[in-house]
Amino acid sequence: MQPHLSTDVGEFFDCLQCGEPLEAPTAVGRTQLACRNCGTRRTFVRGPMVVITGAPGVGETVLGIRLAARLDNGVVIEPPGSGITKRDSLTIMTWFKDMLVLGAQVAQSGRYLVIPNFSRPRELDELPERPWVASIHWLALVCDPEVLAQRLRQRRKSRAIDDAELTGLLGVNEEIRDIALAGPRVSVLDTTAMSPDAVVDAAARLIESWME
Ligand SMILES: [Zn+2]
Repeated sequence: MQPHLSTDVGEFFDCLQCGEPLEAPTAVGRTQLACRNCGTRRTFVRGPMVVITGAPGVGETVLGIRLAARLDNGVVIEPPGSGITKRDSLTIMTWFKDMLVLGAQVAQSGRYLVIPNFSRPRELDELPERPWVASIHWLALVCDPEVLAQRLRQRRKSRAIDDAELTGLLGVNEEIRDIALAGPRVSVLDTTAMSPDAVVDAAARLIESWME
């Protein structure tokens, strides 16, 4: 049997009384979900989340680590293994589903998920879990190809990449720039000439402005 991506959004979104799946809310913020099967109500917070996207090597991981200490209500979680660039598409899509479920869960305590992981807006928008999260705010990190190539070559040996993969990642970097240019939903930080501190400051200010 071919592996396939489940359309079941998971037990987190089931009725607490009868276990039947609940319908996703459409309103933003705190709401009451009523089970269509048994009528039991459940309080649910449909909140926003943040995705920091960018080619591997452009600095999402370091930024995430720094933001975790900086953002009062942000919960930064990077999927384990996301630094590995050779993955099958089913694994990647499963991570994206998990990102949305985690985003919905974090919102229940009045906080928001910040997830540093390469992805494209449409890849999350198409998933059945998407309606359980309100706005997804996108921050795209890009840098000049020569600088990114240099950073990738400096990775430690166990994460070394070959030339074919390097070319692919440089393409991803350009694609991210194009996605950001095509739509105002994605804010871009070009980190080429920025110090790490300046990147953290700029990212934190942007994210805090989105959450006001
Ligand atoms: Zn029920």
